[in-house]
Amino acid sequence: MSPTPTPLSNSALANQSPGNAASGAGPRLTVTRPGTGEPLGSYPIATAEDVAAAVERARGAADWWAGLTFAQRGKRLDAFRGILARRFAQISKLVSEETGKPVADAAIEVATILDHIAWAARHARSVLGPRRTRSTLMSFHLSGSIEYRPLGVVGVIGPWNFPVMTPLGSIVFALAAGNAVVFKPSELTPGVGLWLGRYMAEAVPEAPVLQVLTGDGTTGDALARADIDKIAFTGSTATAKKVMAAAAERLTPMVAECGGKDAFVVDYDADLDAAAEAAAWTALSNAGQTCVGTERIYVHESVSEAFGAKLAAIVGGLRAGADDAAPIGPMTMAGQVDVVEGHLRGAVDAGARVLAGRVGAPEGQVVQPSILTGVADDAPANTEETFGPTANLMGFSEVGPLLARINATGYGLGGTVYGRARAAQIARGMRTGMVSINAALGFAMLPSVPFGGVGKSGFGRIHGPDGLREFAYAHSTVRRRLPPVLDPTTFARTAKQDELLATVVNLLHGGA
Ligand code: NAD
Repeated sequence: MSPTPTPLSNSALANQSPGNAASGAGPRLTVTRPGTGEPLGSYPIATAEDVAAAVERARGAADWWAGLTFAQRGKRLDAFRGILARRFAQISKLVSEETGKPVADAAIEVATILDHIAWAARHARSVLGPRRTRSTLMSFHLSGSIEYRPLGVVGVIGPWNFPVMTPLGSIVFALAAGNAVVFKPSELTPGVGLWLGRYMAEAVPEAPVLQVLTGDGTTGDALARADIDKIAFTGSTATAKKVMAAAAERLTPMVAECGGKDAFVVDYDADLDAAAEAAAWTALSNAGQTCVGTERIYVHESVSEAFGAKLAAIVGGLRAGADDAAPIGPMTMAGQVDVVEGHLRGAVDAGARVLAGRVGAPEGQVVQPSILTGVADDAPANTEETFGPTANLMGFSEVGPLLARINATGYGLGGTVYGRARAAQIARGMRTGMVSINAALGFAMLPSVPFGGVGKSGFGRIHGPDGLREFAYAHSTVRRRLPPVLDPTTFARTAKQDELLATVVNLLHGGA
């Protein structure tokens, strides 16, 4: 039997700052509970000096960690997974306090990442370990092998909306690939970040393979400029551009997991009950603050009335609130309320209709859920990330124009299709990193597929085999195994050999 974890409050984390690599002198972050304003703690803002010191410590840890076998690293990542599972209630409560989301919602993100941790620990060797490659006729005398080696120290900058699942998607995959990590959590969720650091240190007591630095954008900027080997950023597209510019100073490569404007398609032959449930959930859960959340719903005109009625019935039964019983929490970031309200007001002023829920008059950070119809394709509510508990319902008749509308925003993160006969065709036509068919956010749940976007949604991948290779570099070794029949890489070639080369080239490639 595992011991029952003792409760750990935010204030305990803030005061003891366990594992916080920030020095503690100077200005601090003050964290309050969204919706209620209850003070949760104050945390140091790590300086550029703190960042440099953490990166230096990480170098030593990285050398030791990279020297372990995949199995030895996997064992420690599994130990971390076990701690997370045993402290499931505790971490879910901390996430709920700092983000304002219901505890049950927080629990889903923790449960999901456990599967990804298990996958990364189990598959790192088969994806990254040495393997032989094939020779060609011209290179028959050579044998090749390839392995993916750790980069060294990876900086991770995280957002607040999924403060466990999102940063761990980079942290755990970077660790499984043999790197050490310096992590700066969002200034809204530093307690969750420190919690992760504290229990990673319990799972890997030998060296600081994961260090956590609390701070704001200045700390993130210092990390992007630091002497690290890769920066994994998750956040808005606007911030990603700044991080990329800062990282460019040292030619530090980057993973950018940015925002989206995901579309949800309901085709004529979809299971409308299942589609309505999934559309409501993906658009409104987590108060709509999901990077892969549904923001636009396109329904085939033959079923639009029936689907709209089902969706409206579900949304009509939901409410947002700061109390524990509310299925939708408050917005986490006060400033985002204005963005959401701006999109809603702009659409309604231009003639959009509220199909379900309520628009206007937010109470503090509590924004009621809503579904709009009649929103113009070029309205900001349809072209920019809203990141709130709302979605726009629109009709379509032909697949071609539908895909043109879906792909018109420049974002390309995820998407969903409910339907049968044409579902795969529609999914393939979406210019996004991921599509889920007849399932809500299936691509986030299945550990074997990569997660990430294209266009304004960023580049690089976490999760799956690509998520492991993202934090490694390919190292090729080629060995001569036989005397070459024809060796062009020598000054000792004869004219006859050059003639033979021309013949071989013609034979091998002339018919192409
Ligand atoms: P944000 O861009 O405001 O902040 C993200 C992080 O960057 C924070 O830790 C912040 O402190 C840091 N930061 C701010 N300025 C910086 C700078 N100049 N240099 C370095 N770091 C800096 O984003 P957010 O509001 O925390 O998160 C919400 C956004 O994240 C949304 O757009 C959402 O779609 C996106 N998101 C994407 C994914 C994904 O996997 N694609 C996942 C979750 C969230």
